[in-house]
Amino acid sequence: MDHVEYIIRFLLGEGNDVFLPMVSYGPQENAKVIIEPSSFFEDGVYMTEKSLPKIPLQKLEGAEILYGEPRIIESDGQVRICADLVASAFFLLTRYEECVRRDIRDEHGRFPGKESLPYRAGFLHRPIVDEYGMLLRRYLRQCGVEIPEPAPGYRHIWLTHDVDTIWNWSNYYRALREVARRVLFNLPDKTLPLKAVRNYKQFDPSYTFPWLTEKDAQVRQLYGAERCTPLYFFMGCTKESDHDDGYMRKTKRTKELLRYLRDNDCAVGYHVSYQASIKRTEPPCEIDRIEALWGKKITHNRNHYLASREPEDFRVLLNIGITDDFTMGYADVAGFRLGTSRPVNWIDPANRNVTNLRLHPMTVMECTLDRKIYMGIQKEDDAYHFVCELLSRIYEHGGEIVFLWHNPSVSEKDPGYHRSLYQRLLRHLIECHDRCPIDETN
Ligand SMILES: [Zn+2]
Repeated sequence: MDHVEYIIRFLLGEGNDVFLPMVSYGPQENAKVIIEPSSFFEDGVYMTEKSLPKIPLQKLEGAEILYGEPRIIESDGQVRICADLVASAFFLLTRYEECVRRDIRDEHGRFPGKESLPYRAGFLHRPIVDEYGMLLRRYLRQCGVEIPEPAPGYRHIWLTHDVDTIWNWSNYYRALREVARRVLFNLPDKTLPLKAVRNYKQFDPSYTFPWLTEKDAQVRQLYGAERCTPLYFFMGCTKESDHDDGYMRKTKRTKELLRYLRDNDCAVGYHVSYQASIKRTEPPCEIDRIEALWGKKITHNRNHYLASREPEDFRVLLNIGITDDFTMGYADVAGFRLGTSRPVNWIDPANRNVTNLRLHPMTVMECTLDRKIYMGIQKEDDAYHFVCELLSRIYEHGGEIVFLWHNPSVSEKDPGYHRSLYQRLLRHLIECHDRCPIDETN
C-alpha cells in the first residue's frame, strides 16, 4: 500500500476503509473531500530543512496544522481542505523531523522530546493526528456521507515493565560494599543487602514481580486478556557495562523469572540493550538468548533507555522478526511522540515504504514524571492528574494505553511516589471500565 493511501485510511479510522474512494489527495472529480497537497513531498523539499514547519502554526478548527492553509472551500457537495492533513500526519506518524534534524540528539543519542515540534508548538499532550481524523470525518458528513466515529474507550491496555535489573546485589562482595556505605552514612536497613543476596526473592528491593503481577492481573481480569496485556521486556546481553546489567549471564535465575511470568499469564518481549542499540550486529544474538529461555518466538520490543535513535534501528527490528515496538515515547517529556494514541505501521521516511512493524505509542514512563532533568513533577497528585489528562485523550479517540513502570520503582523501599501512583492509575482504569463503550461494540 502506498503511504498516502495508508495515511488516509489511518485518518478515516478502523473499519472505515469503505469510505476511502470518497477522499482524494489532490483534485478528483468524484471525491467528496479533497485534501490539497502542499509542496511537502516534492523533490528538492522532502527531507530537507525547507520542509520543516515554522512556528507559530496555524489552526484548523482548533487543530494545529503543519502544512497548507487553514481553509475549507465548499462547492457542489464537495469539500476542499486547503490544510495538508496528509503531509501533517505523515510528519508526525513517521517521526520525520527526527530524521531531518539528525544533529539534534541528547547524551544517549536520542532525539529530545523538548526539541520536538509538538512540544515547542504546545500540543505534545494531544494526539493531534486523531484530531485530524475527526475533522476529516466531519467534512465527509457535511457532504452527506454517514461515516461513524470510533467508539470511545481504551482499545488496549499494555502494562509494560522493562526488566533492566532483577536484583540489586548479585554477590556478597557488592552487598558488603553497600553494607559498609550504609554504616558509614548511618542509613537504614544496614544488613538488607546481605539478606537480599541470600534470598533475593524475599528481600531484594528490585524483585517486585509478585506485586506487579498481582496488581496487573486485577486490570486484566476486568478488561479481558484480549484487551489488557502485562508485558515484560528482557535484555539479552551477558556483559555488564555502564548502562546494561547483564543479568542474562545468570541463566538459571533469569529462566526462573521467565517461568514465573509465564505461569502468571504475562507476555515477554525483547529489550535491546544499550550496547546493542549502538552496535547493530548484536540484537540477533540477544534475542536468540531470550527466546532460548522463554521457549517461544519473541515479536515485541522496546529499546533500553528508549534509545531508538534512527530509522535504521527499526530496520534492524524488522530483520529479527519483531512485529510490535513500544519504544515510541520521549524520555524527557510524556505525550504523543507519534502524534496519535493508536498503533500505527512504521513508514520508513527514507523510502516511504509502509512496513509491517507496528509502533505502539507509549503513554508515559514513570521516571519521566519526577526526574528533575525530565518533567520534575514533585507531587504525586500533580503527576496523577497529568497522566489522567493523557488518558482522557486516549479514551476520547478509542486509543490504547502503554504504561512503563520499572520493577525497582514500585519497591516499598523506593522513596518516590511511583508505587502509589501506579496503584492509583490502575484503580482509575478499573473504575473507568464500567463506562467504557468499546465493550458494547465488541
Ligand atoms: Zn531499560
